[in-house]
Amino acid sequence: MEVPLAKPDITQREINAVVDVLKTPNLSLGPKLKEFEEKLKEFAGVKYAVAVNSGTSALHLIVKSLGIKDNDEVITTPFSFIASSNCILFERAKPVFVDIEDDTYNINPDLIEEKITEKTKAILAVDVFGHPADWDKLEKIAKKHDLFLIEDSAESLGSEYKGKRCGSFGDAGIFAFYPNKQITTGEGGVILTDNEKIYKLSRSMRNQGRGEDESWLEHVRLGYNFRISDINCALGLAQMGRIDEILNRRRIVYDMYKFYLKDIEEIILPEEHGNVKVSWFVFVIRLKDRFTRENRDNLIHFLKEKGIESKNYFSPIHLQKFYRELFGYKRGDFPVTEKISDRTLALPFFTSLTEEEINYVKDKLKEGITAISNS
Ligand SMILES: *Cc1c(COP(=O)(O)O)cnc(C)c1O
Repeated sequence: MEVPLAKPDITQREINAVVDVLKTPNLSLGPKLKEFEEKLKEFAGVKYAVAVNSGTSALHLIVKSLGIKDNDEVITTPFSFIASSNCILFERAKPVFVDIEDDTYNINPDLIEEKITEKTKAILAVDVFGHPADWDKLEKIAKKHDLFLIEDSAESLGSEYKGKRCGSFGDAGIFAFYPNKQITTGEGGVILTDNEKIYKLSRSMRNQGRGEDESWLEHVRLGYNFRISDINCALGLAQMGRIDEILNRRRIVYDMYKFYLKDIEEIILPEEHGNVKVSWFVFVIRLKDRFTRENRDNLIHFLKEKGIESKNYFSPIHLQKFYRELFGYKRGDFPVTEKISDRTLALPFFTSLTEEEINYVKDKLKEGITAISNS
């Protein structure tokens, strides 16, 4: 049996929607962009949405719209996909890392205040694997120290914190639509905000810094080409049209995993902590502390030989080569992040995963754990 890590959920509806756009003259900046943005802002419960060509571009435009610049500091997490930290570097500001919580794997709010300096401008928190960060605590700290607050909700489309949807916390949030995310546009992302200034600036910078009327060859500021085509938006709209079905199905797959894996003593399963509802982005299991990084890597290798694709998730950002070189980070700097990062792996997780496949993953996982325990 071959079980991939992720697989997009594309039906005839998506295919028809894309083909329909191809029959129109509006392949970019057309009606599908507007419709997609309307849908996303309604879903997240915010005033404005600006769709762009990637989640990374969305983060970059938020950082830039907030005026974060050279020598500013932004507090963020080292346990994330690299874009959440790189978007700070793009504007020559410094990411200041704070270690994570042992259960949610999100930035630990209790460790933030000791890292705040005169230069701190913002906190950028990530809803890791779809689990919401502790937004009440983060908002309180941001308010007290007069800092901007950014939500990297790339992985938490459909998650809720205290009954409020992710993507709506802080000054601005984002979703991302790479094919492994809850929904996809092929490539794409969106900025979500209630802040009119962020909305206007990011709209302008997405389209080469054009002025508000978007008139031809009038450029009022430095901008980029971060546009998303109407072809991508039509795909995203068709996905959003099935969003309840997609999220329900992912929930069922999560529940099946929990049922099949609950008796494996050696691992910790992903769980909801606090008053949250998680729309899981990936199904990440964690080996208990007695196992090593080498054990984990061997387990990934074992599963691969049995046709099951699994991946370590995440590699700490502070230990990436260019972060070590730029900032002198080393192993030991963020012990909770490193401990978890050494022992976690993502298992196959997508809407069409069957009970039979999950059962197979369980059997091979058990065999693999026995093998690494005896090595
Ligand atoms: C996927 C992701 C992004 C970036 O999305 P892209 O569309 O790939 O640029 C940013 N942050 C996190 C945490 C992500 O998982």
